[in-house]
Amino acid sequence: MIVIMERRATEDEIQNVVARVEELGFRAHLSRGEERTIIGIIGDERPLSVEALEVLDGVERVVPVLHPFKLASRDFKPDKTIITVGDVKIGGDEIVVMAGPCAVESREQIFETAWAVKEAGAKILRGGAFKPRTSPYTFQGLGVPALELLGEVSETVGLPVVSEVMAASDIEAVSKHVDILQIGARNMQNYSLLQEVGKTTKPVLLKRGMSSTIHEWLMSAEYILSNRNYNVILCERGIRTFETATRFTLDINAVAVARQLTHLPIIVDPSHATGKANLVAAAAKAAVAAGADGLIIEVHPNPDRALSDGAQSIRPESFQKLMVELRQLAAAVGRCM
Ligand code: PEP
Ligand code: MN
Repeated sequence: MIVIMERRATEDEIQNVVARVEELGFRAHLSRGEERTIIGIIGDERPLSVEALEVLDGVERVVPVLHPFKLASRDFKPDKTIITVGDVKIGGDEIVVMAGPCAVESREQIFETAWAVKEAGAKILRGGAFKPRTSPYTFQGLGVPALELLGEVSETVGLPVVSEVMAASDIEAVSKHVDILQIGARNMQNYSLLQEVGKTTKPVLLKRGMSSTIHEWLMSAEYILSNRNYNVILCERGIRTFETATRFTLDINAVAVARQLTHLPIIVDPSHATGKANLVAAAAKAAVAAGADGLIIEVHPNPDRALSDGAQSIRPESFQKLMVELRQLAAAVGRCM
């Protein structure tokens, strides 16, 4: 349920509604828009009646929320959320590009890639330290030494970094060196991990599970938000379909659907979505055209030597060229880069 306050409601009236909501055993979430304040009610509201709140001073309307995700929904917060990471704003007019290797492999590799993507205009560096691999016999990531390298490269090159956290026990170590915590597709429904990252203050990049519906994805975001971490960035990274020509199928619809349902920033990963370096540019452009707030792209100086995801990693030269094209496209859809 949401309580829509009158345009001219006073602060006392707003606080009075919040107090009443809490007295009734619920949590109140305030969204102060440019026009008016909306108070969202969190908890199992079935026993609550509209009338109980409608009578309070300053209340214009009380409206039931149709979606089971509340904090993530546009009903609770009509204005888009903008997440600030260093000097970078995600969810505003700018299309933010995150780029870097699938995994940190060596000091040389991560530094070379970081300088190259920064030069081309990327605003955030990606690089995995803990890799969720299908086979336990393949490269699993360098772990803590990779995190230390990420911290160092971030400082030297001047780019914030995003890296995956696979287990709650690693949150502290990852948070020490990384600016955005990535929850991978395979962990999208690891609810205890979602709750733990929800207790931190770091922005979270929540990838959509490869077999998850948009609805399930937003419910996973709700786990993080309901633990009071409101900095969630959604990432569409391709879903499983019957198609085998590509690694996954980029669900471009999901960008538009999620945009209608949620105020959270939405980015797209064209690398995992296609699995093929020569399809990444087309998918990246489609994402920007569909209204994505950003992209996360795998770039490697020697894709043929990459320890993971070489087939979908583009070279720094291709990335540079793609960024030029994306800038033109961004302008055509009223965004900047
Ligand atoms: C990754 O970003 O390298 C990754 C493993 O992504 P996903 O969780 O989407 O497969
Ligand atoms: Mn990868």
